[in-house]
Amino acid sequence: MTLPATVAELVRDFRANGRIVIVGASLAGLRAAEALREEGFTGSLTIIGDEPYEPYDRPPLSKQVLKGWVPADHTKLPRMREVDADWRLGVAATGLDRAAKQVRLADGEQVPYDRLLIATGTRARQWPNPTEAALQGVHTIRSRDDAARLRAALAEPPSRVLVIGAGFIGSEVASVCRELDIPVTVVERGSAPLVGALGGVIGEIAAQMQRDHGVDLRCTLGVSSLEGDSAGHVRRARLSDGTVVDADVVVASLGSIRNVEWLEGSGLAAGFWGVGCDAGGRAFDINGVVTDSIYVAGDVARAPHVLYEYEFLAMEHWDNAVFGAEVAAHNMVNLEPHYRPHLLVPGFWSGQFGVNIKSVGVPPFGDEIVFTQGSVAGRSFAAAYGHRGRIVAAVTFDHGKWLEHYGKLIERSAPFPPPPPGWDRPPDMKPMPAEFPEPGVPTEVPDVVLTGHAPSERTAEFRPRRH
Ligand SMILES: Cc1cc2nc3c(=O)[nH]c(=O)nc-3n(C[C@H](O)[C@H](O)[C@H](O)COP(=O)(O)OP(=O)(O)OC[C@H]3O[C@@H](n4cnc5c(N)ncnc54)[C@H](O)[C@@H]3O)c2cc1C
Repeated sequence: MTLPATVAELVRDFRANGRIVIVGASLAGLRAAEALREEGFTGSLTIIGDEPYEPYDRPPLSKQVLKGWVPADHTKLPRMREVDADWRLGVAATGLDRAAKQVRLADGEQVPYDRLLIATGTRARQWPNPTEAALQGVHTIRSRDDAARLRAALAEPPSRVLVIGAGFIGSEVASVCRELDIPVTVVERGSAPLVGALGGVIGEIAAQMQRDHGVDLRCTLGVSSLEGDSAGHVRRARLSDGTVVDADVVVASLGSIRNVEWLEGSGLAAGFWGVGCDAGGRAFDINGVVTDSIYVAGDVARAPHVLYEYEFLAMEHWDNAVFGAEVAAHNMVNLEPHYRPHLLVPGFWSGQFGVNIKSVGVPPFGDEIVFTQGSVAGRSFAAAYGHRGRIVAAVTFDHGKWLEHYGKLIERSAPFPPPPPGWDRPPDMKPMPAEFPEPGVPTEVPDVVLTGHAPSERTAEFRPRRH
């Protein structure tokens, strides 16, 4: 047999009899499992998840669940097809032995694999003072249990909620509070809400929107400490300007931490921004060499993107988890000439204060912004972001039907400012600075992060292999 014929035979055998292990039983893990079966993989499939639940959907947790429209345990992800798999739920992976090709579990079991998918996502960053974080009434929101607890607290209702951090999730929580007629204070270290994700120009609009809905918004301030009563329930917060906010529910919305600790010592390129991989989802080792048998998808992955000058993108987006998982699954069971890249143009949506906010592309890659459609005063508009004369992202407020149009321009690297697409063009279409904070200036953490090469940026922390 020729070498290509032998390789093809090996891949055929792997598809029939191989062993694939997926660590992380959530959106990326489930979609990868479905895609593997769809691709015709009939070997053994093991899915390991530290949560006790079947995969569920997170976006409704900070929206419909908090409002009380949907119970937290009614968020199970719909199944796209049957998945014949060995589900190991409620047990964490605690280590990876690449030489023996085994995943170590918290209960001591070793699970062997031929190919492994890492889909361990992120977790909520906790309030940094552990004693204060342990006060009753202090919440974070990542899991369905978190959402159920916060929903119960909001239903009481509290006299005031304090939200620390005005990123997408913090802003959504504040919006729900106002819908429920609960007084809410939002404290944000940056100059405005959403400033890390969408820049200062859009941040100012978001700030006005919050204030118009009765949010007590305090920007360029931090929370210095949380204080509880004698029963251990949070009662107030001291801010960095010396003022005090009385609140009996505190939601720390401080961004997320990648779940990579279990990979310590594995020799993979795992660090602060996740696990480095190529555009096909194949994990890099600590030296930047691509591995053959380990793949990464979802929030925990960071990969170079051709549209963004090959900078590494770490994306905490629903679409990214779904498409990244499908690409990784395809590549796991196909021959190299048929590998696919995961070159999704990132997209995000958020509902807050009655407005549907959507973005496409990577806004923080842009340094200029121009309003291209609609009216800022009417909170119904589209704006495009530019970098070096080309369009790299767009954001819409209640103008989502136009997003596809901007997505196509971004894919083509069309010139910036783009020609006005619609009849509702604003009178002034002058580009202006998008006002993203300098790297290193503390803000809420954006959900698409460029983790590339600039020395001022925080990049993956490569750790030496432990012997
Ligand atoms: C409140 C909230 C609102 C959101 N809203 C939106 C939105 O409006 N739009 C949008 O695009 N995106 C939104 N997102 C983001 C979106 O939900 C994520 O991008 C998506 O969940 C990522 O899927 P994932 O499978 O990569 O990671 P995750 O969903 O984080 O899943 C990873 C899983 O792996 C498990 N795990 C971690 N470590 C281990 C281990 N060692 N062993 C075993 N299992 C482990 C975790 O417990 C978890 O179950 C929201 C997220 C949250 C939390």
